[in-house]
Amino acid sequence: MLIKKTRKLTLNGYIVIALVLQLSVLFIRLIGTIIFKNFALLFESFHILTDLMVTAVVFAAIKISSSRFSKRYSYGLYRIEDLVSLFIAVIIASTAIYLLLSVFSALPSYSFQSSIIEIISIVPLFLSGIVKVIGGKALNSPSLASDGYHNYSDVYVGIGVAAGLLLTFVTDSDIFYYAAIMFAAAAILYVSAKVGKDSVTGIMDLPKDKKVIQQINRIVKENRDVTEIKSIKARWAGPAIFVEIVLTVNSRLTIEEAHDVSDSLEKKLLGEIPDLKDVVIHIEPSRNPHRVLMIPLYENGRIFQQFSKSQHYLIIDSNEGIRGNSRIVEVPREDILPEKNAQRLLNIVRENNVTDLLAINTGEILLSLMTVNHIFIWKAKSESVEDNIALFLQNKLPKFEATDITK
Ligand SMILES: [Zn+2]
Repeated sequence: MLIKKTRKLTLNGYIVIALVLQLSVLFIRLIGTIIFKNFALLFESFHILTDLMVTAVVFAAIKISSSRFSKRYSYGLYRIEDLVSLFIAVIIASTAIYLLLSVFSALPSYSFQSSIIEIISIVPLFLSGIVKVIGGKALNSPSLASDGYHNYSDVYVGIGVAAGLLLTFVTDSDIFYYAAIMFAAAAILYVSAKVGKDSVTGIMDLPKDKKVIQQINRIVKENRDVTEIKSIKARWAGPAIFVEIVLTVNSRLTIEEAHDVSDSLEKKLLGEIPDLKDVVIHIEPSRNPHRVLMIPLYENGRIFQQFSKSQHYLIIDSNEGIRGNSRIVEVPREDILPEKNAQRLLNIVRENNVTDLLAINTGEILLSLMTVNHIFIWKAKSESVEDNIALFLQNKLPKFEATDITK
C-alpha cells in the first residue's frame, strides 16, 4: 500500500533547487569555455553570474516583505516584490537588446561546438525557470515567478542563437541565423512586457485581478443587511491585497447594528480571501423612498386612541412623499395577552410591508417591539386621518417616544 505524502516546499526549498540548477548552468558553460577557449561562452558564464545575483535579490525581497520588520508599516513592505519584478523586467528587456546588438558582432565568436554547450546548459536553466514559476505561484510571490520568466527568456536566447548557428552551418546561409535571433528577441520582449505589466499594475494601484473584485462583490451581496454596494476598490502590493468598500444599509439600523454588519463582512472577506491584508468598510444610510403607513381606525373613520386595541387599520402606500394606494385590514378582537397581541400586529406589519405606524397612544410592549424591528411610530397631532397623513408625507410628525405613553 502506498502512503501518499504531500509535502509543501518552502521558499528556501525552491530557492535552493533553483540555485543548484543555475550553478550547474554556470559549471557547464565554464567547462565549455576552458575546453573550446570560446569568448562567447565566457560571456554567457558572466551572464549566469548576474542571474544568480538577481535570484539572491528576489530571495531577499521575499524575506523582507514577509518579515516582522515589514509589519511595522501600515501597508507593509509588500511592494518590494513589485519593484524587484520591475527590475527583472528591465533586465529581461536589456537581454533582448543585447541579443539584437549581438547580431552585428557575435556571429564569428560562436563556434559549432560552443553552441552545443550552450544548448546543453539551457536544460538546467529551463528547469530553474520552471521551479521558480511553480514556486512563485505556490508561495504567491510575483517576484519569484518573474525571475522564473527571466530564466525562460535566457533559454529563448540560447535556443535562438544555437538554432541560428546550426541552420547557418547546415545551409551555409546567414538568413536563418538572423531569423532565429529576431524570433528569440521577440519572445524575450514579450516576456519582459508580461513581467513589467504585473509590477507596474501593482505600483500604479491598478486592478490586477478582476476575479477578486467579483468574489468580494459576491460575499458582500450575501449579507442581507446590505442594500447596495456603491464601490469596491482593491489595491495590490506584491502578493498583498488592500480593499475599500462603500455600501449602504437600511438607515433605520442602529450604529451598533451597522457596525455588526461591517464586522461580519470583514471577518468573512479576510477568511475567504487569504491574500487580503486589510478591509476598510464605509457605511452609508439607505433611505427607502417607499414608505407604508399603518393607522388604527374607529368605525367612524377617526384615529383610534390606543394603537394595539383597534379592529380596523388603514394601510397607505407612499413613494417619495406622494400618496399611493390604500386598503383596510380587519383585525378581529381577541382576548390575548398584550405581548401576543403586539406579536400579532408585527405579523400584520410584515405581511403588508409596513414601515411606519401612526398612533395617538400606544403601550410600551408594542413600542419596543416595533423599535427593534426598525418600524417607526409617529405621534398623531389630532384625531383626523387626513390631516395626519398630510403631515406624515411632509415629514412633519414627531416620533412617538417612551415618554409620550399615557396609561
Ligand atoms: Zn539573465
